[in-house]
Amino acid sequence: MAQDQDVRQELLRRIPAVDQLLLRPGIEAWIQRTSRSFVVSEIQEVLQLLRTSMLSGAFPPDDHPDPALIESRLGARLQERLRPSLQPVVNATGVILHTNLGRAPLSVAAQQSLSAVSAQYTNLEYDLQAGTRSHRDQLIESALRDLLGCEAATAVNNNAAAVFLILETLAPGKEVVVSRGELIEIGGSFRIPEIMLRSGARLREVGTTNKTHLRDFEAAIGPDTAMILRVHPSNYRVHGFTARPSLQDLAGLAQRHQLPLVEDIGSGCLVDLHRCGIQGEPVAAESIAAGADIICFSADKLLGGPQAGIIAGRRRWIDMIRANPLIRTYRLEKLIYGALGATLASYRTGRAWQEIPVLRMLSLSRAEIRRRSARFLRRIAPELPREVHALLRDGTSVVGGGSCPDVGLATVLVALSSERRPAHEIEQRLRLQDPPIIVRLEEDNLLVDLRTVFPAQEKALLSGLLLALSTQ
Ligand SMILES: *Cc1c(COP(=O)(O)O)cnc(C)c1O
Repeated sequence: MAQDQDVRQELLRRIPAVDQLLLRPGIEAWIQRTSRSFVVSEIQEVLQLLRTSMLSGAFPPDDHPDPALIESRLGARLQERLRPSLQPVVNATGVILHTNLGRAPLSVAAQQSLSAVSAQYTNLEYDLQAGTRSHRDQLIESALRDLLGCEAATAVNNNAAAVFLILETLAPGKEVVVSRGELIEIGGSFRIPEIMLRSGARLREVGTTNKTHLRDFEAAIGPDTAMILRVHPSNYRVHGFTARPSLQDLAGLAQRHQLPLVEDIGSGCLVDLHRCGIQGEPVAAESIAAGADIICFSADKLLGGPQAGIIAGRRRWIDMIRANPLIRTYRLEKLIYGALGATLASYRTGRAWQEIPVLRMLSLSRAEIRRRSARFLRRIAPELPREVHALLRDGTSVVGGGSCPDVGLATVLVALSSERRPAHEIEQRLRLQDPPIIVRLEEDNLLVDLRTVFPAQEKALLSGLLLALSTQ
């Protein structure tokens, strides 16, 4: 026993000194990349962990004070430390607007704009013609006027903020009439009744869950009414014996009572999605044309841009919202104006279907995905270990982001399973790689849907899958 202790002490003594480790060229290189004080403190941590591991557990200790081993541990640790916490991932789930994965990936033009405006001064609030101060909304207002046919528009942090600001500006202490079929909850605790309460507006529910008529709205309007609110049930559908008034009819009613008709259209769809088999998504310009006085929507859902909430409609109301002191608390960052402007430009030039990734992914046909998946399978199959089975399988991709709950987009999946390793273990290995790869899991199969994988990511996907499926 006493002898074991002596040997243990001897091993501890052999742990190299920090100064000695700093002389190793590999560690010197880390100092060049970062700083001496950073590397020293990380070495101290690594040595402390080594000491603890050598003192605990069995004898002889499992661990060893070898300088080369310490250097490689330090390298792994520093690599991890330097990895940004927000990083790109490969989305192989087939969920196009995956909220946990950041919703819409941006177009090339939007990326270029981000990079151009991020490192330099910009005309964010500066009128270059007049040489005077301007309003940042002017950067996007004319595009939105063009695309939506509205008089004015402003942008805030997200659509939840847009709904809140509209209510807080136009209906404090007054009633807002909403159909019982539209009292929605969006993921992340955004609920119409609660938002309404916080805004100081009073909810006046009308109709029933499945049917609400124009006369229900009409009967609820009184001296305390401030607005009629229509909400798109983005993430659910009520089927069967249902009814709700048309937007035109609601607009007529609102006009007769000189009330604003507000529509939260949710996904910010600017184009007709029928060609992708998607029906019932309100198109922003159609809502304006049908007579909505104000509409609001997200910019990072079907619109395919950065996170923002757009409020558009009649100038009279938009000016009131702009004058609300709270708007400052939801103000957008200059980068977002850049990315949003570039995204809107793709719609204006008629190139949205080619340039906006969300639209491109939505419009990929089953045949196109089948071709890509077959090619991918041909490339990966010969390199897979014997115990791994890979085949093509029909499946569905979904829109996600709380949009189009009924829509399944026909796709072709690459299904992988291993006789040696449970699927959930492989799924975890994929998730912890660099870049992380996120797949679908179904029973003992990993499902890869190439619809949401950028062609430029296929190589990383292939090598990541091979690594995770390997026997080591
Ligand atoms: C998504 C959504 C919201 C919330 O929008 P965010 O941009 O996520 O804040 C509000 N209303 C509807 C109808 C939605 O679909």
